[in-house]
Amino acid sequence: MMNLTPSIHDFWFLPLGGCGEIGMNMNLYGHNGQWLMVDCGVTFEKSPQGQDRTYSADPSFIASRKDSLCGLVITHAHQDHIGAVANLWPQLRCPVYTTPFTAFILRAKLRELGIEQNVPIHEVPVNAKVNIGPFALTWFLQTHSIPEPCALIIETHLGRVFHTADWKLDPNPVIGQPFNQQAFEHLGQKGCDVVVCDSTNATIAGHSISEAEVGRNLVKTIKPLKGRVLVTCFGSNVARLVSITRAAKKCGRYVGVIGRSMQLMINAAKTTGYWPDDLPLADARHLGYLPKEEVLILTTGSQGEPRASLARMAKQTHPFLELDPDDTVIFSAKTIPGNEDAVAKLTSQLKLRKVDIIHAQTSSLCLHASGHPCQDELQKVYTWLKPRCVIPVHGEQQHMQANANIAKQAGTKYTLTGKNGDLFTLAPIRSVKKGVTPERRFEIV
Ligand SMILES: [Zn+2]
Ligand SMILES: [Zn+2]
Repeated sequence: MMNLTPSIHDFWFLPLGGCGEIGMNMNLYGHNGQWLMVDCGVTFEKSPQGQDRTYSADPSFIASRKDSLCGLVITHAHQDHIGAVANLWPQLRCPVYTTPFTAFILRAKLRELGIEQNVPIHEVPVNAKVNIGPFALTWFLQTHSIPEPCALIIETHLGRVFHTADWKLDPNPVIGQPFNQQAFEHLGQKGCDVVVCDSTNATIAGHSISEAEVGRNLVKTIKPLKGRVLVTCFGSNVARLVSITRAAKKCGRYVGVIGRSMQLMINAAKTTGYWPDDLPLADARHLGYLPKEEVLILTTGSQGEPRASLARMAKQTHPFLELDPDDTVIFSAKTIPGNEDAVAKLTSQLKLRKVDIIHAQTSSLCLHASGHPCQDELQKVYTWLKPRCVIPVHGEQQHMQANANIAKQAGTKYTLTGKNGDLFTLAPIRSVKKGVTPERRFEIV
């Protein structure tokens, strides 16, 4: 039996979730008797009976060593990175470090569960440098599909790890800063031993589409429309919400929001300074009284979720609004695999109301952009960082393998691949020890 306490001569990486799957990220770094957790997310899945289920990775490994857990860092506010914190924190009881937008979202969830006062949240700026236990951390702002997506530079005397979290290279992300090539190159010059990297789109050739391009296409799409326009997208993509609101302004429409989760994201964006002052929003309760051609509604439910606002409007059971035959619903989101039936059901209900539908997946203009790097972006970043070793995560096996191949082609000498529960030794000698802790998941209720 291996001793699973890292010594001062060890630098370890142990993923408990998100390595071999897309979802429920939970990563551990170990050094000098202590562990640092990076992200604590959930996965949504349908049961065979079609019920929605929420899972997190099993935290037993670290919960049983919680005295050696020096902190939890949340890289960004997507559910697959933040979604399990409120439920699992009572088993972890460590300080939580994150940036202001993400902290706002986390506090809302903690408040819901009545434990906001218990959890010590250290709010840090997007370029923070903080020592947590034996780890020196530097936050590194990325571009993705939510405000404040942060990579982490994690250093010990044994080496420097760049933990990318979720990212793309967006030259015009609509809100926040464009990606910073110099910052990557600077890190490469200082020396980057290991990159732990997002593999979501590693099987896709080319470069991801910029949020700004989606914004321009939204204006072209909305301009000729008569009647009301409803646009549904992922509520956490605040840049998209800004683009849609700006497109509406250009087309002479007032914008209101119908959907609680989307409203929370907008409140977070306003509080933390990401929502532009020149884009006021109307009270959704008044939208039904305005001339139809002056209305655009931002709403939740792009995945056909039966309890979301769009599904309720399709069934004419929403208190704020009744849809009319000349209204148009734009889906500015891709359909996540597994949700096809739910989306098909929703669109057929909308068609019964004779509402026009424009879907990102069939529209000639691109109305959705992924937040993850395609092959060209991975290749570029590996060229800038010149890491000695790449560890692909945040993907299924084929995505991680594709990512490892790109790293090798970009000149990376070593790649380490494994899955949840495997112990990656980063120093002194690179290795992967299979299954040091069982890969398990928990249902969260
Ligand atoms: Zn993610
Ligand atoms: Zn993400």
